[in-house]
Amino acid sequence: MKVKIFIILYFMAVTHASELFQHGHGIIDNISTTDSVLYLTLDACDSRPNGYDAKLINFLRKEGIQATLFLNSSWINANPKTAQDLANDSLFKIENHGARHRPASLAGKSAYAIKGASSKEGLLSDILPNQSKIFTLTGREPTWFRSGTAHYDAEAVHEILALGLKIAGFAVNADYGSTAPKKTIEKLVAQALPGDIILAHMNRPESEVAAGLMSSLLKMKNLGYHFEKLPD
Ligand SMILES: [Zn+2]
Repeated sequence: MKVKIFIILYFMAVTHASELFQHGHGIIDNISTTDSVLYLTLDACDSRPNGYDAKLINFLRKEGIQATLFLNSSWINANPKTAQDLANDSLFKIENHGARHRPASLAGKSAYAIKGASSKEGLLSDILPNQSKIFTLTGREPTWFRSGTAHYDAEAVHEILALGLKIAGFAVNADYGSTAPKKTIEKLVAQALPGDIILAHMNRPESEVAAGLMSSLLKMKNLGYHFEKLPD
């Protein structure tokens, strides 16, 4: 009986260790502060690598709203001039959204039907080539990583932190993978609290992301919030 219980507990522990999660376990969703600061982060994914939300970026420039841009390798390859232009703009900070845009799972688990890396080497092949690519663009090694789909397992978190990278989570999922309508985006951004990391996307110009963020970010500004890039 005791052996049976031990075996069940063992398998529960093993299963748990390979489970994917988006929060906790070394993932940063909020940077503790009493200041009215918010951290807008925009992902440029490989789901639509040729998409660039110029309207959103132009709005941020006009309003002087700082943001951290998580660029995937495929997106940089498809938009080399825009990527360089963004890298040259001190309003933005460029960070690592993976070379292959996969969940960070050493067990090869899937999120949104995208299969994760199945080994440490696989995980490193998602991270390191994009570190170099972004270094070429900016002259600076990224210090933050967000995996494709923003899903991780505990072993992957351990390996990413061992590289000296911080893992960018999110306190506010503002656009549900750029599928949310304007009104939903407005409601979600309004829930942000001081120090929160806000996640949205910049590679779906056909979506309502720009419309939703433009109104809601202005509202937060009027409430006394300001926007900063993620710290090093
Ligand atoms: Zn992505």
